[in-house]
Amino acid sequence: MAREFSLTPKPVPPVETKYRRIQTSIPAPVTVPLLESLHRSELRAMQGQPPLVWDHAEGFQVYDPAGNCWIDWSSGVLITNAGHSHPAVMKAITDQVNSKMLASYMFPNAPRERFAARFAELLPEGHRKIFLLSTGSEAVECAIKLSRTHGLKVGGRKKNIVVSFEKAFHGRTLGSQQAGGIPALKEWIGNLDPGFVQVPFPDGFRTPDTSFDFFLKTLTDLGVEAPNVCAVILETYQGGSAAFAPKPYMQALRQWCDAHKALLICDEVQAGFGRTGTMWGFEHYGIVPDLSTWGKGISSSLPLAACAGRADVMDLHPPGSMSSTHSGSPVCCAAALASLEVIVAEGLVENARKMGDVLHARLNAMAKKYPEIGAVAGKGLVAGVSVVKPGTKEPVADLAWDTVERCWHKGVLMFCPVGFGGATIKICPPLNINEEALAESLDVFEEAFAEILAEHKAARSEAVAR
Ligand code: PMP
Repeated sequence: MAREFSLTPKPVPPVETKYRRIQTSIPAPVTVPLLESLHRSELRAMQGQPPLVWDHAEGFQVYDPAGNCWIDWSSGVLITNAGHSHPAVMKAITDQVNSKMLASYMFPNAPRERFAARFAELLPEGHRKIFLLSTGSEAVECAIKLSRTHGLKVGGRKKNIVVSFEKAFHGRTLGSQQAGGIPALKEWIGNLDPGFVQVPFPDGFRTPDTSFDFFLKTLTDLGVEAPNVCAVILETYQGGSAAFAPKPYMQALRQWCDAHKALLICDEVQAGFGRTGTMWGFEHYGIVPDLSTWGKGISSSLPLAACAGRADVMDLHPPGSMSSTHSGSPVCCAAALASLEVIVAEGLVENARKMGDVLHARLNAMAKKYPEIGAVAGKGLVAGVSVVKPGTKEPVADLAWDTVERCWHKGVLMFCPVGFGGATIKICPPLNINEEALAESLDVFEEAFAEILAEHKAARSEAVAR
């Protein structure tokens, strides 16, 4: 799945451009003691992405303590939609800290009210009740709880099946992990809840049949009766591949959920807040879900998440029965409000759309040139480049990871998510990236991909010759 990176600094050619600077071995020798210390004190599971110690990050660039600088294609894994360390977000955080209002749990505070009201105002009509939480997994757990509660109310005990999608990722806690569709990540659970079932995601690549009939047929094959479904949850685009479902499929799913009193949940943890060239990812489908889950890019910085949706569903539980200690943390809410206003005021949704066109045009051209690129998916400033054995759909994780590693050495930072055997390279820069930096980083990406491809081919012919 993920790669275990060596902590031994490797000499790499120096880079000095307007946006990138690599002047040491990588990882920078000065950072090795910190990395080694983390390896001693933290669990292994936290390794798996390039061991780049972030010293600070600004806009769409990340700096290590040695002064090396990368164009960031990760947004810290889709967090910093408004850009790293945006002055308005930093000011909101410091002002809030200086106001001596740091935590109040369920007692009301002003930043919580301000963010909830503004977020609700921007959300579609009828989808404006909000529950603030701390992590995406927690928001998904909340959506599952509300779905089962709603199912119980409208259909009785049998209406408790949550349908989700193969290869989906919704978090790592007990419920959210079971809603996920990656079997290897669920092995630890042992006794899986039979109330979670998965159907193929209609991405048009791994699942060629993107008809809604295929959804119905799979449910029948699984022995699931429509009246027993309490919810269907999907990532608005699949994080593992950046693939969207077809719009007609989603519209049919919307109607099917209505017909069977099943809630439609869009997990917007990755897609929300402008990432895909619309403020909310579900806008691409022309639908409004019953519930939505939010996190990551919500504040461009501090930990905040949310579950939002229909008032009648959100209000199913009585006062005091749904809470979380850091729900609506005033500092996180101040950051989130500032980030949201930056996204609106600086036209970052529009920039994501425009830069997305540049990004996808270039990646699609690469896919035509290299048969090792099986699929390019995504919209706006999120893309997934799935690397395959030519002519097949077989993932080739080594090629993907070696490309990520080479880009890291050249000053462009990205990662491979779980989902497609670790063979999808994810591209998701902060939404304020400019065209010059995007073009420069795309050149680096293609150069690295071509180099690694040539090296792999040379290694294979050498092995055959021996
Ligand atoms: N849903 C989606 C779509 C995600 O991508 C993630 C995180 N990668 C989560 C939920 C879980 O979020 P968190 O890591 O904040 O718990």
